[in-house]
Amino acid sequence: MAHAATIAGRKPEDVELIAISKTHEAAQILPLIEEGQRVFGENRVQEAQGKWPALIEAHPGVKLHLVGQLQSNKAEDAVALFDCIHSLDRPSLVSALGKAMAKAGKQVPCFVQVNIGAEEQKGGCPIADVPALLASAREAQIPVIGLMCVPPADIEAAPFFALLAKIAADNGLDQLSMGMSGDFETAVMLGATHVRVGSALFGARD
Ligand SMILES: *Cc1c(COP(=O)(O)O)cnc(C)c1O
Repeated sequence: MAHAATIAGRKPEDVELIAISKTHEAAQILPLIEEGQRVFGENRVQEAQGKWPALIEAHPGVKLHLVGQLQSNKAEDAVALFDCIHSLDRPSLVSALGKAMAKAGKQVPCFVQVNIGAEEQKGGCPIADVPALLASAREAQIPVIGLMCVPPADIEAAPFFALLAKIAADNGLDQLSMGMSGDFETAVMLGATHVRVGSALFGARD
């Protein structure tokens, strides 16, 4: 990450590493916390509720990000547990999260997830709908800090990262959640401020 940032003329400390710990037990997560890693990501609310409250209580500096699809009926649970949500992608979720944040009195920074490859089966807001979703999030007083994407599998990710960066700039957003184990260097060179890395840290998932 530091090398990719340096060649791109960026400061290594301007890119946050989110260690994606989904499917891994506390025993596998603890060594990373002991090495100084402080930001972790999970893709399921229920799984995170099972293992993180105890870990966070023991290590109060640890921050937890939600990187997976969020059902509206889990919005309150997500607001209670997570420090950042990367998967705001539709009007019904704007409304659920807006209500949950108001009720909890807690503003959780969010990324709007964009369906950058226009893939039918994938989550994320269609590119054309991004400005309207951002406007409704503002109206619901949700702090949107940037855009997130998961590009199509098995093809070069760079054009999709570049496109996400352009859409963010066009909408006045400066944070980009993009890049995973296989392509984080490319993402950092194209402006990622948050990379989401799982298997390169923890080994392959079952
Ligand atoms: C699992 C996951 C990652 C991490 O993927 P790796 O290839 O293991 O680095 C990143 N982002 C999201 C949304 C994920 O679900």
